[in-house]
Amino acid sequence: MSYVKKYTFSGLFLMSVALGANSASAQESERINDLIDQVAKAYGGDELIELDSFRLQDRYKQALPGQGYTASYDEFVTFRRDTQLDLVRRKGSEERWTSNWNATLHLRVVSLPDAIATIDYEDGFVRPASFPDFDAAFGGAVRLSDTLLARTLVLNRETAVMKDGEIYLGERQQQVEIQMPHSPPLTLFVSEATGLISKMTRSRGPQTLHYIFGNYKKAGGIAYAADFSIFAGSTPVTISVDRRVSVGNVAPSIFGLDKSFRYEPARVDNQEMTVQKIGEGVHFVGRGPAYTVFIDAEDYVIAAGGYPGLRDRYEMFKKTTGNATPLKFQVATHHHSDHLAGLSEALDLGATLIAPKAAIEKIRSETGLEENSIQLRTLNDVINEGPVEIYNVATNHVDELALIYVPEARTLFQADHYAALHESEITPAGRRAVELYNAVNHLRLDVAIILSAHGGRPIAWAEFETAVEKFEGLPCRSQRSICQ
Ligand SMILES: [Zn+2]
Repeated sequence: MSYVKKYTFSGLFLMSVALGANSASAQESERINDLIDQVAKAYGGDELIELDSFRLQDRYKQALPGQGYTASYDEFVTFRRDTQLDLVRRKGSEERWTSNWNATLHLRVVSLPDAIATIDYEDGFVRPASFPDFDAAFGGAVRLSDTLLARTLVLNRETAVMKDGEIYLGERQQQVEIQMPHSPPLTLFVSEATGLISKMTRSRGPQTLHYIFGNYKKAGGIAYAADFSIFAGSTPVTISVDRRVSVGNVAPSIFGLDKSFRYEPARVDNQEMTVQKIGEGVHFVGRGPAYTVFIDAEDYVIAAGGYPGLRDRYEMFKKTTGNATPLKFQVATHHHSDHLAGLSEALDLGATLIAPKAAIEKIRSETGLEENSIQLRTLNDVINEGPVEIYNVATNHVDELALIYVPEARTLFQADHYAALHESEITPAGRRAVELYNAVNHLRLDVAIILSAHGGRPIAWAEFETAVEKFEGLPCRSQRSICQ
């Protein structure tokens, strides 16, 4: 059995055995072993293999594809990341921080004595992480480092498969494919001249991700690339600004919890699709992260919230309420890709889409609809349609955001600015919630209930106000070194 396991991935080897070309396979295996020995040497030899702990500190620019402030291009935001891995005990800590126009985010995924958890330093909650093991939680961190990829190659040499070489950056590169748990195969590009890894590729759905390494340095006898970037297809998504590596100094005390943290209180159960009556003629329908409000306009229905699964939510609404009037208008809240993904379903149902200009442009480019199509209606400042008022406001999240207000029911539907995710506690607010609060006050809307496109509980205005009042607005609440 070990024979089969050992050569499962070595297609070339099996083929050459079948053809009786033993000498060719022997040559192949010698070539790959020579290459792996060259990589081991280039990255530190015994120091690499005996590495007990590894720390990678990154400052990088991260693109937000489909989630930009404007619809015209994808902005980059600055992140810091501090990854500490105990490679002997297989424990890890990956901390990320950013504070940008859109959000402040400060999370650490960490191995605790009995579980892997995520600490959220912004809201003070600890959440059980969904990762089953070290590889699932920290395999992504390993793939970000040419040093750790080299170590993975050396320690798993029996699964490595040689591919065709290519010229890259003027140098002949050998390609070798390796396996990692919870990942499609990785292809490493190794410089024939230096034995250093210049690139790694792996597939993600229909795309190829390219991890690019360069500007090699040394730390504690180990080589590493100080420059690093990731491309999704031809689009840059991560560009390193500064990268540091150190070895042998991960303190065991980081794999624990500070007393000031507590496990997150119970979240609202959103597994099953529900239809909630909010007020006369106003229903809130959805499950998971995808909710739509349906508003009865007597002869027709107006809906808002454009996540995929719109048709299912509409069918559920009709079945539950007995309202069989057509869906005449569907409001898209803003241009972000996740909020536009269900709109083709609304078009199929014969609805006219109402959206801010930026979102209309995106919908047009995706559907091929003409600028003056009767299925598109641009929201400039405000639209009054039946019992609904739709306002266009600017916040720190997007330059154009549709707020859907039903005066009769004193209900406001919005996306991405606040959601009450917890069953019986106030969910902490971020800066976006404050901007929503200011926008509603500026428009002088009399709101009793707020609904979120991402679900959660319908929120009483007083609860929303309390959450907003509690927001401290500190960019480095924890005062941990990563954000100072
Ligand atoms: Zn958004």
